[in-house]
Amino acid sequence: MSRFWSAVVHGLTPYVPGEQPKIDNLVKLNTNEHPYGPSPRALEAIRSATNDSLRLYPDPNADALKAALAQRHGVQPTQIFVGNGSDEVLAHAFMALLDHERPLWFPDITYSFYPVYCGLYGVAHKTIPLTEDYAIRADDYLPQGHDKAGAIIFPNPNAPTGCLLPLAEIERIVAGNPDAVVLVDEAYVDFGGESAIALVNQYPNLLVVHTFSKSRSLAGLRVGFAVGHPALIEGLERVKNSFNSYPLDRLALAGAVASVEDEDYFQDSCRKVIATREQLVADLATLGFEVLPSAANFIFTRHPQHDAATLAAALRQRAIIVRHFKLARIDQFLRITIGTDAQCAVLVAALKEILAA
Ligand code: PMP
Repeated sequence: MSRFWSAVVHGLTPYVPGEQPKIDNLVKLNTNEHPYGPSPRALEAIRSATNDSLRLYPDPNADALKAALAQRHGVQPTQIFVGNGSDEVLAHAFMALLDHERPLWFPDITYSFYPVYCGLYGVAHKTIPLTEDYAIRADDYLPQGHDKAGAIIFPNPNAPTGCLLPLAEIERIVAGNPDAVVLVDEAYVDFGGESAIALVNQYPNLLVVHTFSKSRSLAGLRVGFAVGHPALIEGLERVKNSFNSYPLDRLALAGAVASVEDEDYFQDSCRKVIATREQLVADLATLGFEVLPSAANFIFTRHPQHDAATLAAALRQRAIIVRHFKLARIDQFLRITIGTDAQCAVLVAALKEILAA
């Protein structure tokens, strides 16, 4: 603590970043990275961009990337904002679009950054409990008399549960809150969800946020983007231009464009993760685990007879790292990232041993 800290910083709860331990032969299933590498075309584009042009600033408007994303998603480039990871895109959305007094509604439980950003940007918020089945219920986000959301944010699928809200339910939330911006954080949507980008041309209050960190296996490159009405995007651009005119560097721009252009690799690698997830869910069920239905590249699970913290610690002793959650509104759960088939087989074998001990 320092006496020079601002009041805002005093109010912030320290965020514990995803764990990146340095252990040999680690089976790392804790931060929802993609188990297979990025598109070889993306890697080649990054290598080719590693040349003398790095002495020059990158394109501040990221025109090539916006054009590629616009084409991929069937929108105009003016409907796209890009940033250094979706966390930064979300930060811009908080600054550009959220009111300080009218509360932002989000689920309890959800992505831990939302309350952190509320603290940082002084945005009031209200949390809405999940249902008994750990799902988001659209009705809970519709105005109730005078109680209306100033804005709404949720991930779809939700994190850390992996549960998916169908597109028709998202549309009910967006249509039912015409005076509130609805931010749909689709970090994990490519592993089995239907993107709300399909609705952006109909609803000027919808902003959909994506990342290259999960389905495109480029967490190390830090690229995220938002899609919405041009007026929402202009708000984000104004913040960006007052903050950092060059959010993406030349290597990130080159790699991201090539990744978007390699649709086959993207589809194949997501399909592989989905198939591995289905196998892992079946294997864990055989061991007696309860697994929430997941449309993400992770699962949320618990064992009725075994404490999740003890299981996580026993796995860690075998150099297998998963996340253990104990939150106010839920019992103990493990969140396990879908790894390769081989990594998941190692995990299942270890759990079998641990349960039998
Ligand atoms: N949203 C959700 C729901 C996430 O889980 C994450 C990753 N932890 C992010 C956004 C941020 O991802 P990134 O900044 O790597 O794009």
